[in-house]
Amino acid sequence: MNVKIDNVTKVFPSRDKKDKTGVVAVRDFTIDIPDGELVCLLGPSGCGKSTLLYMICGLESPTEGKIFFGDSDVTDLPSEKRGVGLVFQNYALYPHMTVRQNIRFPLENLKGADKLTKEQMEEKVVEAAKIVQIDGLLDRKPGQMSGGQQQRVAIARALVKMPKVLLMDEPLSNLDARLRLQTREEIRRIQRHTGITTIFVTHDQEEAMSISDRIVVMKDGVLHQIGKPQEVYDDPQNLFVACFLGTPAVNVFEGEVKRGGLYIGNQKVLDVEGVSDRPVYVGVRPEGFIADPNGNLTCDLNGIDVMGRDISVVCSHKSSENVIRAIISAESEVDRECKTVKFNLKPHKTYLFDKETEERIKFS
Ligand code: ATP
Repeated sequence: MNVKIDNVTKVFPSRDKKDKTGVVAVRDFTIDIPDGELVCLLGPSGCGKSTLLYMICGLESPTEGKIFFGDSDVTDLPSEKRGVGLVFQNYALYPHMTVRQNIRFPLENLKGADKLTKEQMEEKVVEAAKIVQIDGLLDRKPGQMSGGQQQRVAIARALVKMPKVLLMDEPLSNLDARLRLQTREEIRRIQRHTGITTIFVTHDQEEAMSISDRIVVMKDGVLHQIGKPQEVYDDPQNLFVACFLGTPAVNVFEGEVKRGGLYIGNQKVLDVEGVSDRPVYVGVRPEGFIADPNGNLTCDLNGIDVMGRDISVVCSHKSSENVIRAIISAESEVDRECKTVKFNLKPHKTYLFDKETEERIKFS
């Protein structure tokens, strides 16, 4: 099912009697999610991810704008008539019920023509349990299962009515690191297997990068960029997106463009033909440095972390507020005894941003 969010804004009314302006949780948001895609809504806490998800679900109504499932306008349709499955962070399973009863629960409320017999319900429960590979655990209670297994039960419960759209709100947050990894691969497998359009909320960029067909990066309720994970990483539209994606994070320097040259401090580090003279932020991905004794960017060497195949050169520069991390091949020659280290920059891993708007300035 194709999902379209068309110019949606959500303002929560203010509870403050003196200030009536209200909270704009989502602002002028437009995205089109094709059938069968897994899309992550990614952004820092409070950026409006859950609010957007709940509007798609029907638990919140937009203040302005419309939401379409296929050609149908569902903006005013109650949640139970939208055909959505919702999975929360805290599983929300009934502890006194078995896994079978938990998964069956949404089917028991079906009425009229949709009402199912006991046998039909059992068939659907087993089918959903098989998809998430917990069909051997149907008689257990949630308390007798691991966090990852409980989350699979919650997914099976969301899948049992075969929703048109699956919505997941930070479904992995309560799991430990190893289970998070396993369960996210599992979610990807289930999504591919069922082909259900899935919208997945997370603040974890690594999770979003690994699981999604496309990432929607948000901040302060506003869409900043949408694209395939690698595209968004390689081609960020602004400083926020560049900084939000990638571990270690992009290194940010203050710089200046003068007569077609990019300067950090008083060193010319790149030719940037076609960019007019101005102060800029310079973002360099950790893998964008080449150690070179004759390199044109000199940093103070703080230390070297060995990572096996690569090394992380930890250094500092007066034009950067933060510590700089350069990831280079372990075979590169870096003199650990020296107080400084010199680099050249890879142009395709170096981004320029306008200092006022923080928008990307492209150069050739
Ligand atoms: P998190 O990752 O912390 O869950 P989020 O990105 O999901 O955050 P939302 O929960 O959608 O963010 O909240 C977006 C903004 O709307 C926040 O400023 C939040 O305080 C505000 N907000 C959310 N729900 C309400 C509400 N019911 N009433 C008033 N303000 C709200």
